[in-house]
Amino acid sequence: MTDSRTHARRARRRPRRVARRPGTPVHGAPVWLFDLDNTLHGASRAIFPAINAAMTQYIIDALGVSRDEANHLRTSYTHRYGATLLGLARHHPIDPHDFLKVVHTFDDLRAMLHAERGLARMLAALPGRKIVLTNGPEAYAHAVLAALGIERLFERVIAIEGMRARGRWRAKPDRAMLRGTLRRAGVALADAILIEDTRSHLKHYRRLGIRTVWITGHLPAHLPGTGRPHYVDRRIRSLKSLKPGLQSGRSK
Ligand SMILES: [Mg+2]
Repeated sequence: MTDSRTHARRARRRPRRVARRPGTPVHGAPVWLFDLDNTLHGASRAIFPAINAAMTQYIIDALGVSRDEANHLRTSYTHRYGATLLGLARHHPIDPHDFLKVVHTFDDLRAMLHAERGLARMLAALPGRKIVLTNGPEAYAHAVLAALGIERLFERVIAIEGMRARGRWRAKPDRAMLRGTLRRAGVALADAILIEDTRSHLKHYRRLGIRTVWITGHLPAHLPGTGRPHYVDRRIRSLKSLKPGLQSGRSK
C-alpha cells in the first residue's frame, strides 16, 4: 500500500475538528429552559379555562363565526401550529397583539395562580442559567413570574413575540425558531435542558440534541399515564426533583 493511501485512510478515521468561532459559548454549564404554564405554575384549574373562554369569544367577535366553529378553530390551530395565535395570524385578518393582550388579561391574576410550595427556593438552589420559554405573550409571562415572586431568578423571558422570524409568527415546537432563539441567547443546544409539560414539544426538541424533562405535577390526573416516552430524559412530578446532573429516569 502506498504512503498516500495509508495517509488517506488515517485521515478518514480521524474525527473532524470543528473550529470554535469567536463568541461561541464554552460548552458544559447547564442552561435550564423553563416552560411557563403547567411547569412553573398550575394553569389547568383557573387560567387555562379563562384563556380558552376569552379566545373563543375573541374569535366569535372578530370572525363572526358560531361558538362551535370558534372552539374548533382554537383547538385545531393549537394542535397544528403550537399556538392558536399562529393559525389566526396566518389565515385571518386579526390584530395579533390585540388578540394576545385581550385573552391574557385577568382581573385578579394572583388569585388564579397555583404554584408549588417553596418554588422560589427550589429554583434559586438550582445552579446554571435559567430562561423562560413560553408560547404565551411577554406581558403575561412577566406578570405571572412577578406574582410568583420568581422573576429575578430568570436571566430572560423568551415569549411568543420574541419567536417571530422572517415576518412570521412562530412558537414551540418550531425547531428553526428554537435554534435561532438559543443562538441569539448564546446557548449551545448541548447545554440546554427543556422542562415542559407538553410532550410534543419535548419530542420535537429532543431531536435537536437538547435534554428533556417532562413535568407532570400540574397536569390533570388522567393525562400523564405512568410511562416515560423515549424522548424524555427525565420524568418528574415536582421541580424539587431537578438536579444539576441530569440522569435518565423517573422521580417524584
Ligand atoms: Mg406548558
